[in-house]
Amino acid sequence: MTSVIEFFRNLPKKVCKVCGEQIDEKADCYGNICDECDHPAR
Ligand SMILES: [Zn+2]
Repeated sequence: MTSVIEFFRNLPKKVCKVCGEQIDEKADCYGNICDECDHPAR
């Protein structure tokens, strides 16, 4: 039953290609850019 959880836990964290910060899964629509870098100078 834990195989699916283990799978996601073992996935590498996405990292922003601009600032290098870790990206939450919600940001995958931006590619590899975090919220701050996708919306600069807010
Ligand atoms: Zn960033």
